[in-house]
Amino acid sequence: MDILERIEYLKTEINKSNYEYYVNENPYLTDFEYDNLFSELKELEEKYPMFKTSDSPTQRVGSVSEKFFSHTHKYRLYSLDNTHNEEELIKWYERVCKDYNKELELVCELKIDGLAIALTYENGLFKIGVTRGDGVTGENITTNLKTIKAIPLKLFESKNLEVRGEIYMPKTSFEKLNQEAINTGGKVFANPRNAASGSLRQLDSTITAKRDLSMFTYTGIFEDESDQNIKTHYEGMMKLKNLGFKVNPHIRLVKNIQGAIDFCKEWETKRFELDYATDGVVIKVNDLNIQKDLGFTARAPKWATAFKFPPEVVSTKLLDIETNTGKTGIVTPVAILEPVELAGSTVSRASLHNFDEIKRLDIRIGDNVLIMKAAEIIPKVIKYVESEDHEKLEKYMPPQTCPSCGWKLTSKKDLVGLFCTNPNCESLMCAKTEFWVSKNAMDIDNIGPNIIQQLYEKNMISSPIDLYRLLPQDFMMLDLVKEKSASNMYVAIQESKTRPLNRLITALGITHVGKETAEILANHFGSLDKLASANMDELMNIDSIGSIIAVSVVKFFSNSKNIKMIEELKELGINPTSIVAPKSNKLEGKTFVLTGTLETLSRDEASDIIKQNGGKTSSSVSKKTSYVLAGANPGSKIDKAQNLGVIILTEKEFLEMIN
Ligand SMILES: [Zn+2]
Repeated sequence: MDILERIEYLKTEINKSNYEYYVNENPYLTDFEYDNLFSELKELEEKYPMFKTSDSPTQRVGSVSEKFFSHTHKYRLYSLDNTHNEEELIKWYERVCKDYNKELELVCELKIDGLAIALTYENGLFKIGVTRGDGVTGENITTNLKTIKAIPLKLFESKNLEVRGEIYMPKTSFEKLNQEAINTGGKVFANPRNAASGSLRQLDSTITAKRDLSMFTYTGIFEDESDQNIKTHYEGMMKLKNLGFKVNPHIRLVKNIQGAIDFCKEWETKRFELDYATDGVVIKVNDLNIQKDLGFTARAPKWATAFKFPPEVVSTKLLDIETNTGKTGIVTPVAILEPVELAGSTVSRASLHNFDEIKRLDIRIGDNVLIMKAAEIIPKVIKYVESEDHEKLEKYMPPQTCPSCGWKLTSKKDLVGLFCTNPNCESLMCAKTEFWVSKNAMDIDNIGPNIIQQLYEKNMISSPIDLYRLLPQDFMMLDLVKEKSASNMYVAIQESKTRPLNRLITALGITHVGKETAEILANHFGSLDKLASANMDELMNIDSIGSIIAVSVVKFFSNSKNIKMIEELKELGINPTSIVAPKSNKLEGKTFVLTGTLETLSRDEASDIIKQNGGKTSSSVSKKTSYVLAGANPGSKIDKAQNLGVIILTEKEFLEMIN
């Protein structure tokens, strides 16, 4: 097989795998097989750049651009007129059918709560992707869209067409992203749509590539003569599916408006079972000639309507307002509710945002309150239900002291909320310590919230750094901790001393410095001392560090307590200067066990390579092990791996996987 043929073969296999996985949700290759094909393709393209094409799956990794350029749409993207109930739907249908003396077929599609985009394909290749914008002009975000694997870079047939779709982030990915942001002090998104939009509007599309985005296609404008035999919207959608696009599986062709009403009713509650947010149903006349005939108003097609689901709101009793102290010392209120069914789940807690909001809404304990879960995932209290009883209830007063340590709470300039400033506040220190050991920070296994709480309660530690002073026998003083797990905890803590600088910076929990900012700072300064002595100018000279972060960093390191802490860290032997950010995330989520003598690498070298590529190492083989890397004379770990069906790699295979 010659090089070009091999490249074509690899591209086809990888594209097919992406299509099966991201469009049909049906895995076709294992991760390992996929990675192997992908690395081979990348290698060949680097060696023979003349064979690299824009439809290659290697082009999905993203790059950095200066700004987005505006782009005038070839075909205008209209809005949709809304309908809110059965009556309005029937009226719309009567208007549509009036001149035809017959019932018209309709197509019902779930309205995905995401971002509309238009994609241009020329001869089957993805050329340009543009945001909706005002419908006439949008922004060219092609590079970012290319990272989304549900968008085919090359169609199964060589066609010219424009395709419209809705970009969305699955609810589960949205929750994961927010949880990560909470752990690292990053940006928390209000709902999946905002998260999708924020991810799509990154000038650095390598960030977009890391976010789990997908797309449902909702229409196509076919430009080729050969496609003019497509007579209905439904046929068009099936054609798009055959070309490689992801079409929502719940699309339904119905005979008349009653069918559409049934569809709307059915999905009004069933939609909460889906892993993506929907806010209504789009109903379109199926016949394309009739669509053309009906035409458009100034802003919307006459042949379609968007039925909006009513927002899900229920009322329940506010039993109490709980307050919690977080790692920055902020005290937040949470509504404790009489359990109630809302949007497919039982809700007993809801967000009250902050104390100002409670005051503004005059919400009192004992009120009946309305709670809502629209596109947002976390339910929130909207307002109290008016009744005579409300006035009889006591006005809610925010706490004056910390719910954990009893210190007087204070407010901070430029920040909403009340704060506990007791540096020894147990709740605050617990939260700080939980953050210190978390995945993105020092990544210390075996130390959970329960252990941390006990350590504080028994006065065994007074800061995260004290963890490093504990001995194995100390852990045995904790409830239910036996010798083996005490030793595991000790080892896990000691091992974390060698974590790279970026992780240590993240762990410090400096306001506004999350995982990504910590990587930038670590790369720039190379040591904690250099970062600690940096001034405003130096910080602000770094790309993507603005004044807010700079102020926060300078403030942190001018605090005498923090200076002392850095000295303590050094005394304990924690002063990383090692390579910071992982070179790649190729091995993210993968756990390796090393065994036997490798040919060229030492065990330490191999384990560094694994870590630099985002992977982890472990000393024993279990079901969680992704790969066993085996050298000569491997021992019993091999048998265990074989029994558990864990993939065993040779050094050569391992190195191929990395490069
Ligand atoms: Zn406190």
